[in-house]
Amino acid sequence: MRVKLPAHARFSTICIHAGQEPDPSTGAIITPIFQTSTYVQEELGKHKGYEYARTQNPTRATLERNIAAIEGGKAASAFASGMAAIGAITSSLKSGDHVIVTDNTYGGTFRLFDKVLSRYQLAFSYVDTSQPELVERAMRPETRMLFVETPTNPVLRLTDIARVAEIAHGHGIRLVVDNTFASPCVQRPIEFGADMVMHSTTKYLNGHSDSVGGIVVAVRDDDIEWLKFVQNAAGAILSPFDSWLVLRGTKTLAVRMAQHNINGQAVAEFLASHPKVKSVVYPGLPAHPQHELAKRQMRGFGGMLSFDVGTFEAARQVCNRVRLMSLAESLGGVETLICHPASMTHASVPPERRAAIGLTESLVRISVGIEDPADLIDDLTQALA
Ligand SMILES: *Cc1c(COP(=O)(O)O)cnc(C)c1O
Repeated sequence: MRVKLPAHARFSTICIHAGQEPDPSTGAIITPIFQTSTYVQEELGKHKGYEYARTQNPTRATLERNIAAIEGGKAASAFASGMAAIGAITSSLKSGDHVIVTDNTYGGTFRLFDKVLSRYQLAFSYVDTSQPELVERAMRPETRMLFVETPTNPVLRLTDIARVAEIAHGHGIRLVVDNTFASPCVQRPIEFGADMVMHSTTKYLNGHSDSVGGIVVAVRDDDIEWLKFVQNAAGAILSPFDSWLVLRGTKTLAVRMAQHNINGQAVAEFLASHPKVKSVVYPGLPAHPQHELAKRQMRGFGGMLSFDVGTFEAARQVCNRVRLMSLAESLGGVETLICHPASMTHASVPPERRAAIGLTESLVRISVGIEDPADLIDDLTQALA
């Protein structure tokens, strides 16, 4: 009853099949939602490898095998949210340790580091990791981790993963990449030397805006062992139902991302040619300052873009006038979302930090979905009129 995955299976085949076998008790092609808290043991000391559901759950284990294969890692651990996944990664640090972080990181990551972990004698330096020499300069004897996000949100600045992996490993420290914005279809950090890759599965991996979750993919045995230990010890596990939803999502990851790439490019090109739009940031436009790096490091340029309409008032009007697009936070779903980062997703970022990364009051962000791109362009045409 095995589905035999060919040794050199390609990406979309891996997405659909990796880590999954028909259910041995029924032949069900889809891994069931194992909604149980415990497992009956045959006799003392004799069980089927499952004792208690915080520790082991077959639906979650299937998702973990699936995403480990999708990212090209050795093993994965799924958590209750992207933030819980980042919390698990940082739990390997000890008091006195120092971490270098991409300065324009996700707001929730900054909040966790700045407001929670800094209480435990951990130090964080926020650095523009798109400039490798600044990463090198920020290294201290007590630096243990380089935490990189690329592309960043919402100004889509890129970090050269291979270059910073070299720097991190030269100093004997771990490189962690938050790959949420790109998805593993567009960017595979482990191929460029990352030691751990994390995702908010809430975004592209699940893809249908109906689940919150997180996952860490690792390659080193000591990291894998620690993450499994922390999953059980701290307990922020992904539920069986959410694991099942994300497994359903990854089956269509390749086709969804292909359309996100097409739609992202089409909407970016439309906006770049619109007289009321001052600038567009999208890695797939030759005008993007790191377009060459994007071509090297990414396969397609994803569905995230930002554009500047000159004034806050103009940004407000675009956000309020769209009809097909929805005004909402989050990203990576099949439906197109629009947002005003300065007052929504990045409201908690201090104004001077926003200014430093070019996050202006007139900037609008779109998570381009997989609707017909002509309908998205029609919607923006009427909203900008
Ligand atoms: C959403 C997001 C997170 C946090 O994930 P949650 O699932 O919301 O906890 C982390 N990093 C990035 C880049 C994100 O977009």
